[in-house]
Parts: sequence; C-alpha cells; structure tokens
Amino acid sequence: MTKFIEEPNILKPNRQLQSDEYFNEKDQLIYCSKCHTPRQSRHMLQGKIFLPSILCKCQREIYEQEEAQRTLREKQFEIEHLKASGLQDKALYDYTFDKDNGMNTEMKLAHNYVDNWEKMKSNSSGLLLWGDVGTGKSFFAGCIANALLEKGVPVLMTNFSRILNTLTGMHFEDRNQFIDSLNRYSLLIIDDLGIERNSEFALEQVFNVIDSRYRSKKPLIVTTNLTLQELNTPSDLPHKRIYDRILERCVPVRINNRNIRQENASANLQEAKKILL
Ligand SMILES: [Zn+2]
Repeated sequence: MTKFIEEPNILKPNRQLQSDEYFNEKDQLIYCSKCHTPRQSRHMLQGKIFLPSILCKCQREIYEQEEAQRTLREKQFEIEHLKASGLQDKALYDYTFDKDNGMNTEMKLAHNYVDNWEKMKSNSSGLLLWGDVGTGKSFFAGCIANALLEKGVPVLMTNFSRILNTLTGMHFEDRNQFIDSLNRYSLLIIDDLGIERNSEFALEQVFNVIDSRYRSKKPLIVTTNLTLQELNTPSDLPHKRIYDRILERCVPVRINNRNIRQENASANLQEAKKILL
C-alpha cells in the first residue's frame, strides 16, 4: 500500500479528492461521502505521520460480497469436479434425496449415514445394502453419494464390472496403482457385488480391491442382490475372504422397499376389523 507523508497541522488533504470523497477537518482524513467512514488511516512512525489508504465501509462490503461470490464459485466448481470424477454413470446424478418418493422406509438410514458422516468415517464404518432386485439399493447408495459430494466429500460410486474392465490388460504395477487410486476417495461405493465374472482373475481382483480398502481404514458401501445368508456362508474360500472383509466393516441393511400404501391399507383393515368385530 502506498504511504503518504504529511507534515503535522496542515489542514488540507494529502492527495486529490475523488468525486465521492470529502476531507474531514476534525481528524484530517479523507472520508467517503456515501458511508461517512474514512478512506485513510493515520500512523506515526519515527516522528512522521503516514496516511495509508484503507477501504471505507461500503468499499469493504463490496469487497466482501465479491470474495464470498468467488469462494462460492470455487466451491461449486470443486463439487462439479468431484461429481464428474465420482459419478461415472451420469444416471447417478438423479439419485438424490429430493427425488425420494418416501416409499422406502429404510431411507432414513441413508440420511443418518450422511448426517453422521464424520463419525462413520473415523470408525471406518460402511454399509452392506442387500435385498431383492429393484428395491432401490442403488438409489439408496446414490443418495448418500450425492449428499456427501455436495458437502465436498470425495466419493466414488462404481461397480466391479467397470473395475475389472479397467484392470484387464493392465500390468501388475499399474493394477496396484489403480487399486490404490480408489482409496483416494473418502467413500467408495461398489454397486451390485456378485454380478461380476466368477473367474479366478476376477475373484482375485475383487479381493484386492476390498482388501486394499479394508487396509486403508476408509469406509466402503456395497450393494448386492445376494442375501445375508449367502454372504455369511459362501461356498468357497475365495468368496469367503471377500465377504468376511466386507462383513467386518459394513453394517448389513436389508432394503425391502415395502409398499407403504399396502401396509397402510392392511393397517386400516386391521382397524376396520377391530371396529366390525
Ligand atoms: Zn463508503
């Protein structure tokens, strides 16, 4: 900032006044004629007076507004970037809490997971979402992904078909690097475990991804059409070591997607029965 030197006791401004300024003879500083706060401050240094320029109140407000807008733009840009990286399937952009039709009573758990994210993260706690096809497990997981991405948390939602496609044909070193790169995300969501190929290569890579995630101590969310019974009693060792790792860190949640209207209807019928009998 430019420093102006002024001799004491001279009652005139030390620079040309702008059209929205006036000179206050009381404290001999230049003021803003809109907000009537000074645009100069006074400092004594080694017997000399310095009058560095400062922002008046209204200039400061404009500056702060611009700063806030800039910060917001940067944040929005960062979130767009996180989404582009974490939601590789564009359909996932629509899996948000505001599109929840309220039919799935388990959805409150998804809200709870997001609300308690810091705790979940520090405890390495994930979820195992299981249930029949078409019960909204991916929607459940996608809502968590989007809500956390909106908070600036790096989330990757992917599936093993995609991961295995990437790993196939890679060199050993590159494979490890790719698997490590999945752990840069604070939350990894693997959709549809169990639909991938059952080859030795596939099972080994699935284990490597799950094991690497386990060792990173970062949370994992898995969705699967397999039943909890099937996950608890796998038929062979390669599956057992994969499922054991998942079950150790992921809370099993059964997604039922029960039809609430039907349940209400039967409750009403119960009520009717009571009245009639
Ligand atoms: Zn002003």
